[in-house]
Amino acid sequence: MKSEINLVWFKRDLRFTDHEPLWVAQNSELPLLLIYIFEPSVMDHHDSDVRHWRFIYESLMEMNGRLHNSAGRLYFFHKEAEEVFKILADHFSIRTVFSHQETGNGLTFERDKKMKKFFAENGIGWNEYQSNGIIRASKSREVWGKLWERQMRAQPKMVDAANFKTFKLEDSVFKLLKGSELHTEITTRNENFQQGGEYWAWRYLDTFLKSRYQNYSKYISKPALSRKGCSRLSPYLTYGNISMRMVYQYTLQHYEQASNKRALQNFISRLHWHCHFIQKFEDECRYEFENINRAYDKLVKDKNEDFIAAWQKGQTGIPIVDGCMRCVTETGYINFRMRALVVSFFVFNLWQDWRDLHFLARQFLDYEPGIHYPQLQMQSGTTGINTIRIYNPIKNSMDHDPEGEFIKRWIPELKNVPLEFLHEPHKMDLHLQEISACTIGVDYPAPIVDAEETRKKASDLVWSYRKEKEVKTEGQRILARHVNPRKTKKKQKIVIRFACFE
Ligand SMILES: Cc1cc2nc3c(=O)[nH]c(=O)nc-3n(C[C@H](O)[C@H](O)[C@H](O)COP(=O)(O)OP(=O)(O)OC[C@H]3O[C@@H](n4cnc5c(N)ncnc54)[C@H](O)[C@@H]3O)c2cc1C
Repeated sequence: MKSEINLVWFKRDLRFTDHEPLWVAQNSELPLLLIYIFEPSVMDHHDSDVRHWRFIYESLMEMNGRLHNSAGRLYFFHKEAEEVFKILADHFSIRTVFSHQETGNGLTFERDKKMKKFFAENGIGWNEYQSNGIIRASKSREVWGKLWERQMRAQPKMVDAANFKTFKLEDSVFKLLKGSELHTEITTRNENFQQGGEYWAWRYLDTFLKSRYQNYSKYISKPALSRKGCSRLSPYLTYGNISMRMVYQYTLQHYEQASNKRALQNFISRLHWHCHFIQKFEDECRYEFENINRAYDKLVKDKNEDFIAAWQKGQTGIPIVDGCMRCVTETGYINFRMRALVVSFFVFNLWQDWRDLHFLARQFLDYEPGIHYPQLQMQSGTTGINTIRIYNPIKNSMDHDPEGEFIKRWIPELKNVPLEFLHEPHKMDLHLQEISACTIGVDYPAPIVDAEETRKKASDLVWSYRKEKEVKTEGQRILARHVNPRKTKKKQKIVIRFACFE
C-alpha cells in the first residue's frame, strides 16, 4: 500500500521564512516532501539564462543547509513537472500539494493548467496561496491598495526549519525522479552576480536600511552609484528568497529612526509598484505577447538584425547605451533609468519591436515577467496611457555619469578619451582620436544611427498615433482594468506620471 504524504512544491518562493504553504503543510500530521523542479522546457525558453538557474540553485543549496537536522531534504529534480508528479503519484498517495500562486510566463501558466488537470484526475488536492500582494482573479482595482496594505501588515507565517516533518526518499525512487545532472555553469559560483539565498536577501535588506538607503533618491538614476545606493533586492524578491511582507515590515521598523525618511518613502512606493505591475500582468497576461493597446498593432516596424546585434553587443557607438548593455550582460544588473534608456534606444532610435527584447530578460538577474513585460510596453509607448518618454542618451549620459566613471569602466577602449568627448567620442577629430588611442570605426564604432534625428522621427510618429481615436478608446479600457476607478482624473495622472518617471 502506498503511504500517504503531503508535498510542498517550491516555485518562485525559495525561502523558509514567512511561507504560507509550508506553514499550513507543516501543521498537518502527514509526512512532508519538499520539492523544486528544474523544468527543461522552461530552462530552454527564450527568456531564460543560466544566471537565473544558478541563482535558484544557490537558493536551494542554502535552504538544504538549514535542513541538516531533518530526516529529509528539499529535493530538486531536473525533469518536466508532469513527469515528476506521475512518478511521485506511482509511489505515494499524495493528499495535497501546497504551493504559492505563480505569476510566471505563458509557458509556466500552461504548465500550471496542465498540472491542475492532472491533480484533479488523480485525486490530489492542490492548495495555492497568495503570493505577496498579488490577487488572483481580482475583480477590481478599487480596493486593491487596501488589500495590499492588509496583506503586508498581517502576521508573517513562520515555520521552524529545525522541526520539519520531512522524510528521506528511497534511493530507487530518487533515481527515477532526479533527471540529468545540472550543467556545471549552474552549480558553479560566478562572482559577477549577486548570490542567491535567504541569507543574502536579508543581508542586502539590512545593509540598505542601516546605511545605504541614505543616498537612495540621490543615486537611484546613476548607472554607477545606484549599484550601492539602491537596495538591490530585486532578484531576492523575484525568486522569493524574502517575502514582500518581511521587506515591508522590516522597513517600517526602521522608519521611525531613519534620518532620511523621504528616501524610505520612495523605497516603499517601489515595493508597492512591484506588486502593482505584477497584478497588471496577472490580470492581463497578453502583456507578454501583444501590444496591450491593440491600436498599436498598426505600427509595424521592420526588423534590422544588424541593429539588434550591435545593441546586444554594446557596439552602437553611443557610449552610455553600450556601457549599459555590456554591464548588464556581465553582472545581471542596471538601474531603472538605464533599463528604460536602453529600451527607448531600441524601440525608438533603432525603431525595433519590443517583442524582440528577450535578450534583456535573459540578462536581468531579477527577470520577473510580471514587471518586465508591462515595463517594456510602458517604455515602448504601446500602452497609450503613459507619457511617452524618448530618452536622450547623450543628455542622460552627461547628467548621470558626468565624470564618465561608468563609461570608462565598461568601455575600456574609451579610457583615454578626454571627458568632453567621452559621451560622444565620434566628435573627436583625427588628431584627438590618435592621441586617445581610439580610432572611431576601428577601436570603437561610429554611432549606428543619428540619435537626434531618429528621436525626432520616432517622436513625431508615436505622438501622431497617440491622437488616434482607437488608441484613446483602448486607453480607456486599460485604465478601467488596471487603475483604481475611484481616483479622480487628476490623481490618476499623478499615479501614471510616477509610474512612468521611475
Ligand atoms: C524595461 C524595464 C524592465 C524591468 N524589468 C524588471 C524585472 O524583470 N524585474 C524587476 O524586479 N524589475 C524590473 N524593472 C524595474 C526596476 O528597474 C528594478 O526593479 C530595479 O532597478 C531593481 O533594483 P533594486 O532592487 O535596487 O530596486 P530598488 O529601487 O531598491 O526598489 C526596491 C524594489 O522595488 C521594486 N521596484 C523598483 N522599481 C520598480 C519599478 N519601476 N517597477 C516595479 N517594481 C519596482 C523591485 O522589486 C525592487 O527590488 C524593470 C524596469 C524597466 C524600465
